[in-house]
Parts: sequence; C-alpha cells; structure tokens
Amino acid sequence: MSLPAHIPARESDLAERWAAGIPGPLRLEDGRALRVIFPGTPAGGSGPDFTGAILEADGDLLRGDVELHLAASGWRAHGHARDPAYAAVVLHAVLENDDAAALTAHASGRLIPVLVLPPPVSFPPPFTPPCTIAAANGREPGPALDRLGLRRLRIKAGRADHLVRAGGSGQALYALLLETLGGPANREPFAVIARTLPLGPLLELAAGSDAPRAFAVSAHLKGRAANLVLRRAGLRPMASPGRRLEAAGAVLARLWPAGAPPGWPASLPPGGDEAPLRTAGMGRALALECMVNAVLPVALAAEEWPVPEVERAFLALRSPGTYGRLKALERWLGAGGARVFPGAARLQGGLLLHADYCSRGMCGRCPLSGG
Ligand code: SF4
Repeated sequence: MSLPAHIPARESDLAERWAAGIPGPLRLEDGRALRVIFPGTPAGGSGPDFTGAILEADGDLLRGDVELHLAASGWRAHGHARDPAYAAVVLHAVLENDDAAALTAHASGRLIPVLVLPPPVSFPPPFTPPCTIAAANGREPGPALDRLGLRRLRIKAGRADHLVRAGGSGQALYALLLETLGGPANREPFAVIARTLPLGPLLELAAGSDAPRAFAVSAHLKGRAANLVLRRAGLRPMASPGRRLEAAGAVLARLWPAGAPPGWPASLPPGGDEAPLRTAGMGRALALECMVNAVLPVALAAEEWPVPEVERAFLALRSPGTYGRLKALERWLGAGGARVFPGAARLQGGLLLHADYCSRGMCGRCPLSGG
C-alpha cells in the first residue's frame, strides 16, 4: 500500500498520534459520531496497541482495547480475528479501510467499529489564535457572531426562495421540515418524499382517513418512503427514519389541523418561538433545528413575517447545543470566561465563522481576530 507522504508509514507513528489525541469531529465507518474520552494506555507488548480506552459512540459508552493498523486488512493478516487476546477490542483504528467494511469481526462474535483516522491537520493551529487573545483582552465576540448568524440565516432564506416560488410558503415549509427531520443520514430521501407527495395532496389523503390525523399523516409519509433507500445503520432509535416520519406526522398535523389550507400555518404567527413544533418525537433541540432550518428561512423568503420579527425571533432562540466541530472555537473564544454560544443565532454565526475563516486558515483576517 502506498500512503500519501503526510501520513505516517509506521504503526509506531500511528500509536504516537493516537496517544497524543486525534482532533475531532470523528465519525466511525458505521456512521456514528465518535468521541475519545480516554485513548487508553499503550500496551507495549503483544496484544492490542492500547488497553483501557474509554470512547463514546453516539451516546454509547465503549470501554476496552484499541487496535491500530495502517490498513484494515492488517487485522486478518496479523491473525487477530482468532486471537483471544483481541476479544476485548472496542475500536479498530486505521489509516485506510481497504476492506471497505464498517465493522471488524472477531471470532468471539464481537463486531468492532472501524475508524478511519483523519490525516493530521494544521487546524486547530499549534498556537494561540488571535481570537483567544482578543477575547482575553475583553473583546466580546457576541455582536460579531450575531451578525454572522444573521448572514447565515439569509443564506438559508436564499435557498428556501426557490421552494417558495415553486410551491408557495406552506409547501416550502413542509419540504424543509422534512429535510431537517431526515437529518444528515436521510435528508435527500425525505426531500424526495416532499417532492413526490406535496403538502396539499397529503392533507387531502389524511382528511379521508378515520385514523387520528397525526397517525394518518405519518402513515402516508411512510407509504411514500417505502420504495426509497433509507439509512438506518448507526442511527439512534429516535433518529431512525420511522421515528422521524412519526415525528413529522405529529408536527404536520399540529401545523395543519383538519380543514386548514396548505398555506402558511396560523399557529406560526410572526415572532414566535419553537413551542408550536414541540410535538411527540420532537425534542427541544430538534424543534430548534426546525426553526433555524425551516420556519425562519421560509418566513423570511416568503415574507410571511416582517424582517425585524424574523431577526428578533432568531436572536432570541435558545441554542440546541454546541456542535462538535465548534468545541475548539468555543474554547478559544471563551478565554474571557463568557458563554460563547448561548443561543441559536450565535451558534449559526459560529458555523459560518468556522466554515469561512477557521477551517481556511484565516486567523488574523477573520472578524474576531481583533486589531
Ligand atoms: S479564524 Fe478567527 S475565530 Fe477562527 S481560530 Fe482563527 S482567529 Fe479564531
């Protein structure tokens, strides 16, 4: 196997990297997000490379050993599959997954998740970024994050605009709600459902059913999803496509009750928060995601709410929780002790900052560099 020059060619180099800590976000080959709580202790002899590691995979705690290989096929080539010493391995970390399998099998029956280690990155930079110094000197990052957050909302509204033009504000809202509920795993098939079973016909079908409205709506959505390829592997039960379509049925039935036309819902008056979206299967974080990705962009694009009402509601929304990719930024900007992402708007601003500046090596030229 020939490896790019920037990644180590020896397993001992790989072990050094693992011991020093691999910057996240990390994602297992089966789709779960991985967090390394403790990388384990170098074993220094025969058996797995590290013992006693503590990991978290999408909320599941994994405790055990870690085995490292340059290529995943090394597991079989080295005879680990039948070696009892490797029965407690909970992570197989590799540079290249040449087996293309999401899980590595051990003869004990254990299926071990595979992690392809990202190449070493120059970000976060190996120095204190200027934003940390600026924050420590009392420069408050909040106003700049608010401005960036509002810019990101306008970008989302721009994307919603073509849906509004094609099908009106109700259809656009329905489509973006479904996409948000699909999440990264099933965004595209959920968008297909919205395109092939538009809101108007869906409401007519539900009206013709004797079943409770939420159940009837989700049953028709599931029926349309039956022929689509949906990803289920590696998802938490609450994020499975079936549960998300049930959540969609509940929220759509709330927004468009019996007899309501398929336009902008009366239950979403200007300036409101996520409360109308809090239905069965819709936790607070998911409802906030739906506000940020669906309700507010469509309200802005379709002019269903006055612009100041959209902005006021956005700036008042609580945070659904800091995303993994923003943890380092949160640490740097929080040097002065301030809570960096108290609300959804600043979190969105952080995402734009990260995408447009931090991950492009723009330290010194970003809006938070100071000077
Ligand atoms: S780009 Fe700006 S905000 Fe990002 S790490 Fe560098 S100085 Fe900080």
